[in-house]
Amino acid sequence: MLFMGQDTIWTVDSLPVPGTENPGFQLAVLGDPVEHSLSPPMQNAALAARGLPYRYERLQVPPARLSDAFIRLRELGFVGWNLTLPHKISGYDLVDRLDPEATALRAVNTVLNLGNELIGFNTDGRGLQAALAEAFGVDLAKTRIALLGAGGGAGQASARFLARLHPDRLLLVNRTVAKLEALKHDLAVDPRVTFWDFARLERVFLEAELIINASSAGLSGDSVDWDPGWFRADHRIFDMVYGREGETPIVRWARRNGIAAVDGRLMLLHQGAFAFEHWFGKPVPVQAMRDALARCG
Ligand code: NAP
Repeated sequence: MLFMGQDTIWTVDSLPVPGTENPGFQLAVLGDPVEHSLSPPMQNAALAARGLPYRYERLQVPPARLSDAFIRLRELGFVGWNLTLPHKISGYDLVDRLDPEATALRAVNTVLNLGNELIGFNTDGRGLQAALAEAFGVDLAKTRIALLGAGGGAGQASARFLARLHPDRLLLVNRTVAKLEALKHDLAVDPRVTFWDFARLERVFLEAELIINASSAGLSGDSVDWDPGWFRADHRIFDMVYGREGETPIVRWARRNGIAAVDGRLMLLHQGAFAFEHWFGKPVPVQAMRDALARCG
């Protein structure tokens, strides 16, 4: 295992034997990278508020080990786990059964181990919708939306989710245009849905009101090189990436240029609350989760 400050980051090979070294370690987030994830403090606050005897930790899993990780966690009798980048699309093929939302969104971010049957869910779409409602109060069906990073795991699921709401326009953008092919195949019949590459961002921003970043651009701290002249006062930016004090390179850039922007913590909160409900049912201690995220700075 690796140590980041006081936090443990597990690997597939260092996973404990349950009931011996680490009683209660029954939930995890699997990612690569995973050290940035704030799911552990948020989910552990929810577990404590409900008096459940479990712990939720980070598990570093490279893509080539995802299948091994599923096998080990099933053997260990984990209650469930979350998938973060880049595992949401691969995870779709590793569960025994999919719920209708995960089937529709073609990606899995939440797994429930129910009596040794792995059930895949997707809470990113509903989490995004709840976060956008809370952040901007927008009616998505009446909004022109641009989704950056639409070819990634969160991006593809969000694109499918948003398309079902029939927004005024849905502009899907990805750096690697080939990764939009599956979405093109399924969504291009709707004339309101169009496909773009990053070279045409100026035109994309001109046509959109709400800009959602589902790409991991900014996760490593790099700033964006967008021209402020591409933006209007009515633009809203939602960055799925989250950062310290609610700031990410994109949010910082937007605020510096007078554009309303929020980071992805609200989405983390709402998708995490829906995931907790899949594992443990109601009530979901949302306020405890919100407070825990606020304490993370
Ligand atoms: P993923 O499957 O690995 O996809 C990554 C996406 O980012 C791809 O579209 C990729 O484009 C794009 N990308 C990476 N670096 C880029 C750059 N420098 N410029 C432009 N595009 C770039 O990851 P994911 O699971 O979709 O997650 C994406 C991000 O959303 C992560 O930062 C994740 O933490 C965040 N997220 C947050 C929440 C939340 O609750 N707040 C929920 C879901 C996801 P290519 O196809 O060209 O490689």
